[in-house]
Amino acid sequence: MQNNLFIYNSLSRQKELFKPLHPPFVGLYVCGPTVYSDAHLGHARPNITFDLLYRYLMHLGYKVRYVRNITDVGHLENDADEGEDKIEKTARLEHLEPMEVVQHYMNTFHRNMDQLNTLKPSIEPRASGHIIEQQEFISQLIKNGYAYIVNGSVYFDVVSYNKKYNYGKLSGRVLEELQASSRELEGQEEKHSSFDFALWKKAAPEHLMKWTSPWSEGFPGWHLECSVMSIKYLGEVFDIHGGGMDLRFPHHECEIAQSTAALGKESVRYWMHNNMITINGQKMARSLGNFITLDQLFSGNHPVLDQAYSPITVRFFILQAHYRSTVDFSNDALKAAEKGYQRLMKGIETLKKLKPSESSDFDVAGLSDKCFDALNDDLNTPVMLSYLFDGIKYINSVADGSEKISSGDLETMQKLFNTLIFDILGLKDESDSKVDERLTDDLIKIIVDLRKAARDRKDFGASDMIRAELKKAGIVLKDTKDGVSWEKE
Ligand code: ZN
Repeated sequence: MQNNLFIYNSLSRQKELFKPLHPPFVGLYVCGPTVYSDAHLGHARPNITFDLLYRYLMHLGYKVRYVRNITDVGHLENDADEGEDKIEKTARLEHLEPMEVVQHYMNTFHRNMDQLNTLKPSIEPRASGHIIEQQEFISQLIKNGYAYIVNGSVYFDVVSYNKKYNYGKLSGRVLEELQASSRELEGQEEKHSSFDFALWKKAAPEHLMKWTSPWSEGFPGWHLECSVMSIKYLGEVFDIHGGGMDLRFPHHECEIAQSTAALGKESVRYWMHNNMITINGQKMARSLGNFITLDQLFSGNHPVLDQAYSPITVRFFILQAHYRSTVDFSNDALKAAEKGYQRLMKGIETLKKLKPSESSDFDVAGLSDKCFDALNDDLNTPVMLSYLFDGIKYINSVADGSEKISSGDLETMQKLFNTLIFDILGLKDESDSKVDERLTDDLIKIIVDLRKAARDRKDFGASDMIRAELKKAGIVLKDTKDGVSWEKE
């Protein structure tokens, strides 16, 4: 199968023509969430980025096996293998079973991903369901001389790995520098070197999620699951591994080391990383008060938000930037994205109704080529969208009679817009939500009538209360001589 898709490989640090190992099959692995709290804005970007890649590969005719894991055990609070398991901590604070926490936040994550119109992965393996495979992998690493056992825990031996292979090749870190800069952290005394990482941790007696193993009752290290599950479902060597840039080190660096040490060869052929989202120029963090969950974003219920933003507006906003650029989230940027998205949807509606003429005033075939050239250039969606907006200008000119389109070009244009906007970008018309808007209108009308009835019987207490409560909900009533009108603040 032929394609001209170039993708930026974080390992070689250059764009490479994408050639799958076994066409038409493509293996795609993406690091999924650790399900210990609500999905947030930071989850939107990698999942939309790799959904776009998944959709585009399928458009090109590939049969893609898309594996995205769920981390439900072993992700500790800090990267130095110390601290509490994130899920156990939530379970302790909320008085729940750890698997109740996992189920709850996994459900939220799935609901939010559906709202963002991302396609479901082909396989969604969970770390806790692959304990035996992870133990077998550890045994292989011990056998190969790249792991050691201390007090029932097993650690990866980075120094011995680095003698044969190159630890740090993905993140560009050099072991000597890591050695010089690494702090002595509490609880690190079991490790031969501070940058060694846990493959298996012996569990403290009060620990809830633990399994028997040849080394101790314990649990797997966080990095291990991705090596094990990607190889299990995609083969020892597979095409693409994706994730957020924040995972390059240590998570993906450790994955490369584990897989190479176990198999004697590299597993991943193309590493792809999306850049991060900042909020008003700042990193998103709970401590900065700018941590926004997706539910808050979609409802507008957060102090930094001026209004609610629909899931597809958020999707469009993210696709407006190239996935390797940073994106700064602000109310102004989101409102601009909302307008852009609406202009696109209106253009599609207009396109459906255009009447063809004998000839065209626009190079429709050229537009199609330019759009696909942009996508083939490492998924350059901002450039592709700028061409689509050129197309929208032309559509509007045809609609107002100042330009013409032939029937063949009209058909091409309709097909092109549907393919790019709905199939590949994964946008959708949210006019279904207009039903909700109509319902809101009807409900407010009922409340306004109740207030009028209260005033008519001179119950001004009740009428004032209704007005005040509506104002709290962002609805302002205006008494006019024709009756009462209302508007959203
Ligand atoms: Zn991972």
